[in-house]
Parts: sequence; structure tokens; C-alpha cells
Amino acid sequence: MTVPILNKENYYSNEIDKHYMSNSQYKSFLKCEAATMAEINGEWNPPTSEALLFGQYVHAWLEGEQTFGEFKKNTPSLFTQKGQLYKQYQVADLMIEAIQNDDLCMFVLSGEKEVIISAELFGVPWKGKIDVYNPAGGRFADLKTARSLREKVWNPEIGYCSFVEAYGYIAQMALYAEIERRMTGRSEWLEPLIVGVSKEAPPDKAVINIDEARMEIELEEIEKRIERIIQVKHGGEKPKRCENCKYCRATNQLNHIIHFSELIENH
Ligand SMILES: [Zn+2]
Repeated sequence: MTVPILNKENYYSNEIDKHYMSNSQYKSFLKCEAATMAEINGEWNPPTSEALLFGQYVHAWLEGEQTFGEFKKNTPSLFTQKGQLYKQYQVADLMIEAIQNDDLCMFVLSGEKEVIISAELFGVPWKGKIDVYNPAGGRFADLKTARSLREKVWNPEIGYCSFVEAYGYIAQMALYAEIERRMTGRSEWLEPLIVGVSKEAPPDKAVINIDEARMEIELEEIEKRIERIIQVKHGGEKPKRCENCKYCRATNQLNHIIHFSELIENH
């Protein structure tokens, strides 16, 4: 199998996703195999969410003035006819301001932006995009937006936990540290840091680190689960439907009648 070379233009393409595993594809497979396969095969485009736009807005700012300007121009849905940000997005500007006015945040966010990394891991090629890459400083950083940084979030597998755990950010940072280490032949991991900023007004902020022991556990977990994913993606194994997501709802063909009590089972 020849694997195409990654670049900025093809990074998010289906062609690349067919060959490369990524943190988001891994998470997507855990949520719903059927939806993920349909997306990779170009049969399903998940609708863009408000939360996604939020993240993209703040990341475009992080990349620099030119990218931010282009993003604003190419995303008219963010703005009213008068050219003002819609109310629900106005806090995004507050978030940027909160980061800009904090020396520690700005220090941690200094480095090369949106750096593509790739390496073979668990027998398959992986790709990743690091928000801020600073190998000379011994670290890399990821900017995360969240509703709140300190509230407990419910995750069906772990129970109540921090937003960092609930959204799989520890696994993501562990993957990036390991992919980067393999790519460069480094013996140690760079220190992964998360700059978190909340959508509250005024926004909360934090620079967050993760212990290496926990990152190792996350990588072991991924190694355990990746076998099934590879079988589905490359081995012709039938993808399971979760019967819960937008894709499954959109493609659901009923074949039996259910008792009313089944409506709230397992959710
Ligand atoms: Zn599904």
C-alpha cells in the first residue's frame, strides 16, 4: 500500500483519511463505525456545529493575521449584514482577548503554528496537526475552547470528569507526543501543554499539563482498540451502527416494533 504524502492542501481530504489514522478519526470510530466509514468513503458529510466554528475562529486567530482575515472573509455565516459577529460568537473575541492579555498563555503559544506530523504507530500510518510546535523549548501546545474549564462533564465511560478527559484530549496529546517522537527519532516526549479558554463571559483560562504515566495508559488503551478499527477500515469487517448518531438516524430503516421502555434503554 503506497501512502500519499501529507500537505496542507490534502490534510483533511477523504483520500488522506483512507490511508491515515488520526486522533479525530480514532475518536469517531469509537463513537460510530458506520458513520466514520461513510464519511471516509465520501458518502456522508457531518453537519458543521457551532462549537466547531468557534474553535476554527480562535484557531484562525492563533495562526496569524493573514489566516484570521481569510477565515473571516470565507465564513460569512459568522457575521450579521452589518459585519458584526453574531451574538453567540461575540464571546470568541473575548476569548482571544483573554489569551492575548495573559503572558503565560502567549509564552506557551509561541512557536510554529499548525505543524503537520506523521509516523507509523500500532502498524498504521497516523497524521496529526500540532497547534503550536516548539521543539527548541521542549514543548508543543494545543489551544482548546470549552464551555467551562472547571465544571464536571459527564462521560458515559468514565463518569464525571474534567473537560480534558471527557473530550479525549489526553489521548490526543499522548498520540501527538508519540507521533512527534517517532517522526523525529527523539528519545523523550516533548512536553504537551493545553491552553484552555472558556466560552464564559469573561472567559476563564488555564495552561494545563498531563503526567506521562497517564499518557502511557492512554496509548495502551488506543493500542487495544485499534485492532478492531483496522479490521473495519482495511479488513472488510462490517462497520457497526451505533443507532444513536446523526448518520444512523438519517439512514435508519426500521425492521421491528419496540416496546416504549426500550426508548430510554442504554442512553
Ligand atoms: Zn451511528
